[in-house]
Amino acid sequence: MKILIIGGGIAGCSAAYYLSRDGHDVSLFERDSVASHASGFALGGITPSFGDSPKDSYDVLSDYSIGLHRDLAEELSGGNTEKLNLLNKASVKLTTEYSYMEHMLKTYESYATDYAKDIRWLSVGELSHVDARISPDVLGGLYVGEAYETDPYKLTLNLWQAAEQCGAKLINRGVTDIVVQGGRVSGLVAGGDEFEADSIVVAAGPWSSSLLLNLGINAPVTPLKGQILRLDAPGPPLKVSLWWDTDYATTKPDGLLWVGTTEEKVGYDDRTTSAARDRIIRSAVEILPYLDDAELVQQTACLRPMTLDRLPIIEAVSEPQGLIIITGGGRNGILLGPSMGLAAANFVAGSEFPVDISAFSLSRFS
Ligand SMILES: Cc1cc2nc3c(=O)[nH]c(=O)nc-3n(C[C@H](O)[C@H](O)[C@H](O)COP(=O)(O)OP(=O)(O)OC[C@H]3O[C@@H](n4cnc5c(N)ncnc54)[C@H](O)[C@@H]3O)c2cc1C
Repeated sequence: MKILIIGGGIAGCSAAYYLSRDGHDVSLFERDSVASHASGFALGGITPSFGDSPKDSYDVLSDYSIGLHRDLAEELSGGNTEKLNLLNKASVKLTTEYSYMEHMLKTYESYATDYAKDIRWLSVGELSHVDARISPDVLGGLYVGEAYETDPYKLTLNLWQAAEQCGAKLINRGVTDIVVQGGRVSGLVAGGDEFEADSIVVAAGPWSSSLLLNLGINAPVTPLKGQILRLDAPGPPLKVSLWWDTDYATTKPDGLLWVGTTEEKVGYDDRTTSAARDRIIRSAVEILPYLDDAELVQQTACLRPMTLDRLPIIEAVSEPQGLIIITGGGRNGILLGPSMGLAAANFVAGSEFPVDISAFSLSRFS
């Protein structure tokens, strides 16, 4: 089948990989360049999710996606497993508030028998063995051994290159319209030209909603800006990634300590700001006081595609037929990207996705 994909982020490139591997005639439309937005600038934390119970649909999808990341590290590496930088690196979620600690302890109790995730509750004393530089104001932390980190730019690019090797083509144009005839998608318009399609995958990140609105489809995805600082920090690297509130700190393979982040509703403005820089540094120094002596090397900002309920949209809509939507990865779009791409390939093949994704249908907003 002739499949046109809109968007060269992790969602679109994952779809391109799985669809071209299945033998379809795939073209990817990207108006800038592959991984030039959130998928190229994210932190790359691949950490399990913790909802109300291990059976939570989002948790099940996250776990399945972690498995896909491990598979991709093998499949795309061509024998060089270091190539994608998928590192098994424990994460520890910290808290300085008693009320939140109670909530975390409840989470720990619900998930403790999920042995595959290797979860432990660490008291203040135990935390000092993880890293003695953590502030004494921290009350404890939830340790997750089965967590990973990736380089999202490399991963997205490698997915695209693998798709290209299977025959996928990149068309460097912005899509302005999706064309529908007789209740089915028949093509799209880009740069004034029309391209025919049997099926179209919308993976345009936070820009997806405007493309879909032209078809009368309300997909409530909006941009949520996040900023990250890369610091030259004194002393040895952090051996685990540390998370607290909406923030985090981790030493990446470039040797720099990445700290973040913000959640800013400022439309499509993706410029860095000094206000965000100051807030991120203040928060990081509260948890890791030694970072007072760190030097700022780089500051980045990008836009997450975020839905109203923070869950992704993974859907093959019934009207018009042939239209697939994979977006809304939110703060976990790198983690979920391979699942969203594989789901698109399964929709085209008419096969069931291995885990239940009905909770991510667009119908939940109607
Ligand atoms: C600061 C920050 C840190 C993050 N850290 C993590 C993390 O640690 N772990 C994690 O899992 N996730 C993380 N994320 C989230 C993750 O980056 C995003 O959810 C994910 O990258 C979204 O991927 P996407 O492919 O849906 O969208 P994007 O990466 O935004 O890609 C969409 C692409 O579509 C293109 N496009 C849009 N409209 C059109 C059009 N009309 N025609 C042609 N092309 C078009 C755009 O140019 C863009 O390249 C982070 C995000 C931020 C901002």
